Amino acid sequence: MHCRAVRMQLVAFQDGELSPGQRTQVREHLDRCAACAKLERRLEEVTPRPFVEVDPELQETMWRRLDAAIDAAFRRQRTLPPPSRLQLWWRWLAEETTVPTGAMLAYASLLLIAITWGAHNWWTAQQLQLALNQRDASAPMQLVVPAEIPADQFRPAAWAPEEDQP
Ligand SMILES: [Zn+2]
Repeated sequence: MHCRAVRMQLVAFQDGELSPGQRTQVREHLDRCAACAKLERRLEEVTPRPFVEVDPELQETMWRRLDAAIDAAFRRQRTLPPPSRLQLWWRWLAEETTVPTGAMLAYASLLLIAITWGAHNWWTAQQLQLALNQRDASAPMQLVVPAEIPADQFRPAAWAPEEDQP
């Protein structure tokens, strides 16, 4: 095997990526050729080792701390008070809707005002109807002339729609 071919395969040789046959050939060449053996040593010095040996005690400490941190996080989560019904509702509102909260509140206020106004009108109408029902329907309408107006100057309004044409 020539030096050139060996040097092209040195990295693969060190990473253990050669077939057993190729590996034996490179190994035999390195035993015979000092120049290639020197290059192989230098290459090994600058090649980062993929598997770094970590102190088992250090590793154990790291895992213990990680477990403790995860445990603590879970315990913190468990001790949180459960969200109130209002908070849940508010969260649902924020997640399920795309309308801004301000616009939603404004719309709700307008709706409330409209409903209140309608209810008030309905109540007034009911009261008027009640008053009409209580009045004696058979009695003629009493014409009450205010005392400030002299009797001879008072004339009941007589409006005939058919004469009111322009
Ligand atoms: Zn060589």
